[in-house]
Amino acid sequence: MSLAVQIRQPGGPEQLQIVDVPVGEPGPGEVRIRHHAVGLNFIDVYHRTGLYPLPLPATIGMEGAGVVEAVGPGVAHLAVGDRAAYAGQPPGSYCERRVMPAQCVCKLPDGIGFETGAAMMLKGLTAQYLLKKVRPVEGLEPGDHVLFHAAAGGVGLIACQWASHLGLQLIGTAGTDAKCQRALANGAAHAINYHTEDFAARVREITGDKGVKVVYDSVGKDTWDKSLDCLRPFGLMASFGNASGPVPPFSPAILGAKGSLYVTRQTLFTHIATRESTQAMADDLFAVVLSGAVKIHLDQRYPLAEVQQAHRDLEARKTTGCTILTL
Ligand code: NDP
Repeated sequence: MSLAVQIRQPGGPEQLQIVDVPVGEPGPGEVRIRHHAVGLNFIDVYHRTGLYPLPLPATIGMEGAGVVEAVGPGVAHLAVGDRAAYAGQPPGSYCERRVMPAQCVCKLPDGIGFETGAAMMLKGLTAQYLLKKVRPVEGLEPGDHVLFHAAAGGVGLIACQWASHLGLQLIGTAGTDAKCQRALANGAAHAINYHTEDFAARVREITGDKGVKVVYDSVGKDTWDKSLDCLRPFGLMASFGNASGPVPPFSPAILGAKGSLYVTRQTLFTHIATRESTQAMADDLFAVVLSGAVKIHLDQRYPLAEVQQAHRDLEARKTTGCTILTL
């Protein structure tokens, strides 16, 4: 048996209830993991509210780290006793132990602790593909300006550091001056408080009216329109989240009017659909973390029993960097 956080119906944080669930043996291609820590991500909020519907009842959570307890037939890359971490589908990481597909589970290097492993996989792999795989047609070179919204958040603080490591001039946005300072301290070249400043005007000013080559937008509804005004001709709008709500429908004609822009909507799960791609991206992430180029800021820890408060704080924009649930 295992303690697990389940929802029986979509709704507020009060829907998150701790229950006891049976845990079986892994089948072909599966492993059983005993978690040491579990990562909290904004996608968990979308699952809880029903924005991304799940079959119910559901244990939510997409990220964790722990020890491999059992290995099913056909799994060659993991053995019983391995330290491991993962981000991936299906949801179900808010628990002590679980059986899950081995495909997305990676061995955790000795130099990375369980709590850091649990905090960094989903956010770090997301920063990896956004900065290294999603490309504007005109390419991305050291010195280029990019705009990254919610730059002091979990994905954001990793992206600030990684972009700086790649030589990019990342302009970060955040909702308070303190969060802007946090982005600057982590490699952002500029930071804009989008509650007190017109971020499109500031981006134009910073870039000498040229605009940026890429906008990475996980805020969605509230930032969409102005973000298009931040792009230079042929620039790329990389939408990857909806923290303020889904992007409303729009006419493609607007992209022509604003400079023959490109739009893409990305999800990590396409990028980690195979064992090979997952491992290659994880190796890249482990390398920047082990080298110290990217530090994982574990700013909030909550015991599993306080999961409702963890969700309240994440949605109320009270968190910065990464958050874990401890077991
Ligand atoms: P964060 O730690 O970044 O938390 C979300 C942040 O969004 C808040 O701290 C807040 O920062 C900002 N925000 C803006 N508007 C709102 C609002 N109305 N309500 C709440 N927050 C708001 O979360 P994560 O690091 O877990 O994820 C960041 C984003 O990336 C999320 O939108 C998530 O869904 C997305 N994501 C997408 C993936 C993909 O592959 N598509 C994978 C991983 C994450 P501030 O106060 O500074 O505005």
